[in-house]
Amino acid sequence: MSLIVQKFGGTSVGTIERIQSVARWALDTQAQGHQVVVVVSAMSGETNRLVQLATQINPIPYSCEYDLLIASGEQVSVGLVTLAINTEAQRRMNNKLVGQGGNIKKALVKANARGFLGHQIGIFTDSVFSKARIQQIDTTLLRKELALGVIPVIAGFQGVDANNNITTLGRGGSDTSAVAIAAALGADECEIYTDVEGVYTTDPRLCPEAKKISKISYEEMMELAGLGAKVLQIRSVELAAKYKISLHVRSSFNAVHGTRVVAQQDLGGRMEQVLVSGVAADVGQVQFTLQNLPAGSEVVAQIFQALSRASIVVDIIVQDTPSAQRFSLGFTIGKSDALNARLVLDKLKSEFYAEMKIFENRDLAKVSVVGVGMQHHPGVAAKMFSLLAESRIEIKMISTSEIKISCIIPEEKMKEAVRSLHQGFELHRFE
Ligand code: ADP
Ligand code: ASP
Ligand code: MG
Repeated sequence: MSLIVQKFGGTSVGTIERIQSVARWALDTQAQGHQVVVVVSAMSGETNRLVQLATQINPIPYSCEYDLLIASGEQVSVGLVTLAINTEAQRRMNNKLVGQGGNIKKALVKANARGFLGHQIGIFTDSVFSKARIQQIDTTLLRKELALGVIPVIAGFQGVDANNNITTLGRGGSDTSAVAIAAALGADECEIYTDVEGVYTTDPRLCPEAKKISKISYEEMMELAGLGAKVLQIRSVELAAKYKISLHVRSSFNAVHGTRVVAQQDLGGRMEQVLVSGVAADVGQVQFTLQNLPAGSEVVAQIFQALSRASIVVDIIVQDTPSAQRFSLGFTIGKSDALNARLVLDKLKSEFYAEMKIFENRDLAKVSVVGVGMQHHPGVAAKMFSLLAESRIEIKMISTSEIKISCIIPEEKMKEAVRSLHQGFELHRFE
């Protein structure tokens, strides 16, 4: 008997029909002899709706109450999915009894599923609201329910901190909940059910030629996820790599095999042959440029310390030194942190750097090519820049790691850039 964690994303629980389909799927998996834990996201569009309500009241709403609010979408899904599983289990039992000529009035089945919010089972996190990290999961209750043959249905995306506040794990965080629960329970498999058939060479909604990847390494998946491929939250992949959790990303609309996220050594021969295995794109980029700063590395330190204290994650950084006395600094951050960053920078200007000029550019996107094969092969960066140049796409910033190259470009060119890179690196031929 295997223990399988099945996570269903927003579209997969987006309607009552989809929820009933999830219920049948979970019960079918259990009927095959497995123990099943279900983790659910909010119904599609719901978390965005809640975020929007909050920002109408306060454009920077991040607080303990904000997490309490945006975690509520998952509670609805837990209630509905649990109800659907129990209703379907009762229907199956009735059908069986009718088939055997039994009396269905006496045959109320015991609950087959039980719903839990994060705090009810003990998903403990730190107190960094809206970006909380899971510290520990208490598995006592879950193990007890599993031993009784119950399917626990758990709210993704949420936990509880040491002061009993409800916390959330960042957008897309139900993936991380599922992997963390799989790790805590020592599950044999963690299945991520979504609205595409797996991980593709690029977002299939941006590029129709995108090909499904049957196996991808944790490292490549981490890069793709961190660079905008929202099919998995990056932290879920980090956790999966750390605890060696076998991940299977697949569609909740059919039973087709999806993508396995595995360790590099389990990729087989693929790694040597393929330089680039994916193109990622992210429109949520804001570039800040700070000009006329007094020279000195302590200035750079002070600026990034202030941003870090506000829990703002900085991505690409470039420094320019036009004179010995003055320098400028450019950096990119995620759009959701932009207002907060502006406040931090305005405060630094008023307190320390009156002459600093702050520029903000929101119309940007980041396109990246990713592949473990590029670490030992030259020429990938050159090819990427040539392909963008051929399409007359201006590159504003560049950053690289061993297995990725990213370029910041104008947002309106994003789709064109993705298609040109996908074509140029021949990803439509990906096996
Ligand atoms: P869920 O609600 O199931 O968590 P998400 O919307 O968070 O689903 O993630 C799935 C979406 O990720 C897909 O609909 C697709 O548009 C997008 N996506 C981006 N990059 C990729 C990629 N490389 N492969 C597959 N999907 C991708
Ligand atoms: N509902 C949350 C979100 O939309 C978490 C998730 O879907 O994974 O970000
Ligand atoms: Mg998601």
